[in-house]
Amino acid sequence: MNPGESIPARIAAGLNRISLLLRHHQWHEAGGQALTPTQAQILALLAAYPPAGLRLTEIARLLAVTPPTASDAVAALEAKKLVRKAADRGDSRAVRIRLTAQGRRAARAASQWPDYLLSAVGSLPPALQEHLLAALMAMIRSLQQQGRIPVARMCVNCSFFEPDRDPGAPEPHFCHFVGAPFGLRSFRIDCPDFRPASAGAQQANQYVLIASYPASKGGIP
Ligand code: SF4
Repeated sequence: MNPGESIPARIAAGLNRISLLLRHHQWHEAGGQALTPTQAQILALLAAYPPAGLRLTEIARLLAVTPPTASDAVAALEAKKLVRKAADRGDSRAVRIRLTAQGRRAARAASQWPDYLLSAVGSLPPALQEHLLAALMAMIRSLQQQGRIPVARMCVNCSFFEPDRDPGAPEPHFCHFVGAPFGLRSFRIDCPDFRPASAGAQQANQYVLIASYPASKGGIP
């Protein structure tokens, strides 16, 4: 062990080990067709949106990549017969990218988290699971602010989220979409009912989450 290696460097190394495993899983579940992270994200994105599909510019915007990067990834997916282009009914000059039946199967399979990973996380004490979830959300927010990843469909980014509505309660936060209170354990990272909040509200939500967590749980650094 290198005693001078920082905690962030060791955490990054640990995340890398897990990401390699997930890459292998996605590759295997995609029928052995090697998918780049961008290609896998496009499949997941198309699966999460209505069957009418998305325009290339929408895919690029939602994934925070350049249009040429999105175009290359879509072309590769098309060659693998996982997506197809179809005329946009609302604009005859535009096309929409849709999943093929094979692509829908690949997206569904690749998004199923492997049992061994769920079991590894599930074996952690509940409080540690909450720490991990909070830390992941904070990291996702930070990467999002750096423009490295697109806006995640998670509670702290959502206009339905009201943080700390009932301070001190076991479920202090409130979701106005379902009309119910919830606590950290129920935070979503990819919610289909998500509606983006303003940038200012997203930032404020993040501060409330981090500020409220330490009081009961020992703190997020
Ligand atoms: S709609 Fe989904 S993302 Fe938004 S606050 Fe409710 S659970 Fe969270």
